[in-house]
Amino acid sequence: MTQVLQFKAGYVQDEWITPCFVSLDDLGRISAIGSEHPAQAITEKHEGYLLPGFANGHSHSFQYLMSGMAERLERGHESDDFWSWREKMYQLAAVLDPEQLLDLTTRFYQSLLEYGYTSVCEFHYLHHDKSGHAYAQPATLSISIMEAARRAGIRLTLVPVYYHQAAPGKPIQPRQRRFYCKDTDEYLGLLEHIANANRKLYPEVLVGYGVHSMRAAPPRDIKTILGTHWALGPAHFHVSEQSSDALAFEQAYHCRAVDWLYDNVPLSDHHNLVHATHINTVEIKKLVASQATVVLCPSTEGNLGDGIFPFPEYFNQGGNFCIGTDSHVSLCPFGEARYPEIVHRLFMEKRNLLCQHGALDSGQILFDHVQTSGRRALGLTGEAFDLGQPFDAIVLDGSHDRLVERPLSHVLGIAMYAGDQNLIDAVYVQGIKQVSGGQHLRKRETVESFRKVMRQVTADLTL
Ligand SMILES: [Zn+2]
Repeated sequence: MTQVLQFKAGYVQDEWITPCFVSLDDLGRISAIGSEHPAQAITEKHEGYLLPGFANGHSHSFQYLMSGMAERLERGHESDDFWSWREKMYQLAAVLDPEQLLDLTTRFYQSLLEYGYTSVCEFHYLHHDKSGHAYAQPATLSISIMEAARRAGIRLTLVPVYYHQAAPGKPIQPRQRRFYCKDTDEYLGLLEHIANANRKLYPEVLVGYGVHSMRAAPPRDIKTILGTHWALGPAHFHVSEQSSDALAFEQAYHCRAVDWLYDNVPLSDHHNLVHATHINTVEIKKLVASQATVVLCPSTEGNLGDGIFPFPEYFNQGGNFCIGTDSHVSLCPFGEARYPEIVHRLFMEKRNLLCQHGALDSGQILFDHVQTSGRRALGLTGEAFDLGQPFDAIVLDGSHDRLVERPLSHVLGIAMYAGDQNLIDAVYVQGIKQVSGGQHLRKRETVESFRKVMRQVTADLTL
């Protein structure tokens, strides 16, 4: 059914339109958008602000179950870090079955929608059964993820990744058996199974590819996978998340990780480097020149004690960046987007680091960047509100205290620097309303199965 929606104002192609009318065809695509009242009757009217939805550039859905549950020191341990957190995460990865992954991911993706994400990139390395063998249908766990996205109504880019070794020169460990591929041929075979399921059962999903990390594969395999365009969606990989990651790569291969990627893959705007926390000034220049995107996951990086990404230096040279929620200790896109700059405000004792050379609002600059790079990182083409695009959008609550009686020119600054989930009123994907009044419209149908997974899984864990 065609729809005509009216909003108090809409942010379209980097400018505010007021009022804003959007006409949708019967496939949920934008057939008209502008400030002139269309000839057809209005089917829905919002007293709120229309924005393109956020793209979540990095997710491991199963980690939602343990977010905030690894905040205690083990008895007898004087400190904790990324590596000890990872052991707890491995416990969770070891016990999940396909039905549990489906149920937990369905509710988790509903949650992402409630926070204002309309699309998500699932970085997927949980491939095999609990004993480490391939399922009879090798794409079983990928199918759980694709089915969950369909049930929740979120747009999905699925990135199944290659995982071959524990670290440079170190073989896979027993607790990593569900991730393992013995070589790139086995990985490409798995990818083909996933692509087949995608084509036959879930054509709305975009499938990408990648390598788990610079530590999890030898350089020859990284080059084989990332250096080839497999006629699929985008390529993603973890890079230099921890300082020990960066050091281990350099010691093993006598080269910095981004230096090596730039010279050997080579990097382009098709590539997405997750974290890239520990990069030097030469690597920053190469990253910017390559037009690759850095996927920052600020709340997770902070939670895991990863280190601090050199955000002002990277941004001021024109580097592309988007945001991801990774381990999901926070799901708020406004918070994720502002955090990298806020950290440097603290360091530098300065404000508005992004707009020193222009008159634009910091919030608008941030929003535009995470939109453009986020869409590219998920393999989505064009601008969100171009004619013919699926209507993936969020509506900010115009009656919220933070927004009432404010000039339009401050709306993005307020949202990006003072906003949280409470600002989200409605969310649409492909023209279908998924969230209303901040709640997913099918939340009630999924809550009980989610609780059941929580009961089953937490009983097996010693977090
Ligand atoms: Zn990750």
